[in-house]
Amino acid sequence: MRVVIAGAGIAGLTAALSLHAAGISDVTVHEAVAELHPLGVGINILPHAIRELIELGLADRLAAIGVATADLTFLTSRGQHIWSEPRGQAAGYRWPQYSIHRGRLQMMLLEAVRERLGPGAVVLGSPSPASTTTPTCSWAPTASAPPSGRRSSPARASRCRAATCCGAAPRTPSRS
Ligand SMILES: Cc1cc2nc3c(=O)[nH]c(=O)nc-3n(C[C@H](O)[C@H](O)[C@H](O)COP(=O)(O)OP(=O)(O)OC[C@H]3O[C@@H](n4cnc5c(N)ncnc54)[C@H](O)[C@@H]3O)c2cc1C
Repeated sequence: MRVVIAGAGIAGLTAALSLHAAGISDVTVHEAVAELHPLGVGINILPHAIRELIELGLADRLAAIGVATADLTFLTSRGQHIWSEPRGQAAGYRWPQYSIHRGRLQMMLLEAVRERLGPGAVVLGSPSPASTTTPTCSWAPTASAPPSGRRSSPARASRCRAATCCGAAPRTPSRS
């Protein structure tokens, strides 16, 4: 079986590793950008997602670039305590939660994909056909009047259009 994945983000790279672990090794990840850089912010990966990455044999690599999150605390701008709650293993999960930089996580996954599936498994500067095809929409802003008393707007229209193109029904705007 040959599998083509569009996008070498966290999802695409993890999917490639999962397919490889399931015995499907003819996998190619096509990434639109010509160069991948470790972009992003610090994010928190919750235990159910870390479980999947650990199952893929990435425990040591995760521990090397992430911080196991023990608690989540909200403070005011003056440092007054609002709320704390335990997280990850401190909250009783079998797997940790990690605070981790998105870009470093992506680079770690990229390295693992190239090691396991081969250096040519990720093709950069190669947008999938989906990005060159204009999606077909079943709903257009002018085809449906907004609820009475409410004005339509270009921003709302494009949100509804995107939802329709992704297969979801257009949402009724909740406020004008
Ligand atoms: C500010 C912020 C904070 C966040 N915090 C958290 C958090 O704490 N915890 C958490 O779990 N998540 C968090 N997220 C969400 C998380 O970062 C995303 O869900 C995740 O990165 C999505 O991964 P992805 O691979 O689906 O998409 P992306 O990382 O966006 O990757 C998609 C890739 O596909 C490529 N691409 C797109 N179209 C094509 C095409 N047609 N052909 C080829 N390549 C294509 C793009 O160039 C890109 O490299 C946060 C997001 C933001 C913005």
